[in-house]
Parts: sequence; structure tokens; C-alpha cells
Amino acid sequence: MRALAEVGPTLLGTSHRQAPVKALVHRLRTGLGEFFQAPAGYEVVLGNGGATGFWDVATLSLIERRSQHLVFGEFSSKFAQAVHEAPYLDEPEIIESPPGTCPTPIANPSVDAYCLTQNETSTGVAMPVERVGPQEQLVLVDATSAAGGMRVDLSQTDAYYFSPQKCFASDGGLWVAILSPTAIARVEQLCRSDRWIPPSLNLLTAVANSRQDQTYNTPALATLFLLAQQLDWLLAQGGLEWAAHRCEESAGIVYDWALGSDFATPFVSDPAWRSPVVATVDLDPSVSAQDVSAVLRRNGIVDTDAYRKLGRNQLRLGLFPAVEPADVRQLTLAIDWVAARLREQHAA
Ligand SMILES: *Cc1c(COP(=O)(O)O)cnc(C)c1O
Repeated sequence: MRALAEVGPTLLGTSHRQAPVKALVHRLRTGLGEFFQAPAGYEVVLGNGGATGFWDVATLSLIERRSQHLVFGEFSSKFAQAVHEAPYLDEPEIIESPPGTCPTPIANPSVDAYCLTQNETSTGVAMPVERVGPQEQLVLVDATSAAGGMRVDLSQTDAYYFSPQKCFASDGGLWVAILSPTAIARVEQLCRSDRWIPPSLNLLTAVANSRQDQTYNTPALATLFLLAQQLDWLLAQGGLEWAAHRCEESAGIVYDWALGSDFATPFVSDPAWRSPVVATVDLDPSVSAQDVSAVLRRNGIVDTDAYRKLGRNQLRLGLFPAVEPADVRQLTLAIDWVAARLREQHAA
């Protein structure tokens, strides 16, 4: 934020076709390629609309006829719903599993895209990112809350996309997608076909603009700048491996605390699925998670609430790379303190 305040007077308000902004987009595209060790031929593409906007982009510009969706929470189900509503696509194949678990993709020759979610932010479940079928069947990965905090081998993916307000500690409104050559070939085919694609959702247009270090229409410059700053910081610390390690350390603190607690338990029962970036913890009925979150919020510790629709007595904690593991430790102590007071009140 301090860095933004410093450059603000010369950066904010600049046209996105001018050198200062193009230089920033260039820095982002090369920096993200380096950070994720993008294989040769993969391209970093940017556009407006966040990950939610990218679902519409993918529905129009990446899925040819039929997609397979692994649905295990709110975000993965929203993309599946968007595809279900598209009149020109076949009914998607949905493989669903209950919240707190993760489904397994099943190779199916009748689909042309597998849609995975590396970290289901609503439940705190992380899944492996691996190819399911041959290269022509694209692997589209919603990595919104995972990208930058979890390891990934991009050669297993064709579109690895995210918004920058989670692990990259920036602001919302932007999507970033790292596309494989196979994905770009699909985009060229679909965007040149007779399918009607609104210009702002046309991925070929976004690719063409990104190649010139631009976006199709004006982006929020502060979002770009904050993303670039965070990326530089992560690279200077040691890159993705460092960030992934740091998130694992924070997650270890939370899960070990919950396992040793007499009122908290990790929601995700299989340790292999427990997310290193978003931890979900169920509380005993004697401690209201809503009350804990409310007390924490009044004391400046915000957004520990569970995902509303899950309807559980649960806390959900963001463990993104910008979060200090020491603060996570402090948070567990704060929760213990609040829970003990609430139980005293409860008993009285
Ligand atoms: C936050 C999130 C989204 C939505 O991101 P927006 O930038 O609000 O569109 C989508 N998918 C996942 C996994 C998320 O965590």
C-alpha cells in the first residue's frame, strides 16, 4: 500500500495504451511466467472480470461441446452452472462429492475439457492437478485461491486461471490465465468459428492484447500494480516453492492446534485434502463459531467466518503467503481465549 501511494501520482490515471502501464503488464507477464515456471509456448493472458468473468470466457472460448466438472463446493458448482446454462453446449458431465471431500476425475472420450478447482475455497479442500486424458482434452483449472500458495506443474494444465486478490494479496476485478499452446489453438478455432462471442468475453481478443502487453479495455491500475509488487516480493523470497512452504507452515499450525483442541476439529477428515491456503475448522456446539468470529471482528481480526451456505458451526481461515505464520499462531491463541470466555458464559 505504501508503494502504491508512492507511484500513485504518476501511475494512476495513465492510459492503458501508454508506456507506464504497458511496462507494468509486461513485468507481470514475464514475472508470472517465471514464478510458475511456465513451459515453452505457454502464455500469460489478462482481462477484466475476475475468475467469475473467466468462467464465462471459458464457456464461450475454450469449451467446444462438452465439459466435465468436479463439483465439491460453491465455486466449482458455479462454473458448472454457467456451462449448464450455455445453449450451444451439451449438458456438462458433473462428478460431485459432499463438502469436505474431493471427487476424482474420470477419463471420458466424449468431453473436450476437464474443469478442476485446485482449492475449493468454500470448504477448504485442495485437489491434485493432473491431466486426465490426452492433450486434446483441455484441463482448465480454477486456481483462484491456490495460485501463488500451492505448487503446480503447469504442463498438467491448459488454462490455469485466477483472480489476484487471494494469494497475490492484490485487489479484485482482474483475471489472469496461463494458457498452453493446445488451449490457444482451441481458442483460435472457436473464436474464428460462427459461434457468437461477445467481444469482452472473446479470449482470442484477450490473447492478442496480452501479446502487446495490454488488456482489451481499461484495467484497474492499482490492481495491476499491487499484483506486480506482491509478485516481486514472492520472487525475491524464493518464488513459489518458498510461498508453498510458508502456507504449509501456517496450515500445520492451524490443523495441529485443532487436532489438539478439545473444542475444534479440522472439517476435512482426509489430511491429504486439507487445504494449505484456506483452513476450515469445525467447533463443538458449546462454542458458537458465529460468536467467536463476531468477537474477533470487534477486535480487528476479520473474516474468519465459514462459508454461509455450508451451514456449519465452523471457522474458515485464510493462510495466504502474505500472512505471517506467527500471526496464525497468535490467531489460534486468540480463538482459544475467546472460546474459553464463551464457554464460561455458557456454563453460568
Ligand atoms: C474467489 C474465488 C472465485 C471468484 O473470484 P472472483 O474474483 O470474485 O470472480 C472463483 N473461484 C475460486 C476457487 C475462488 O476462491
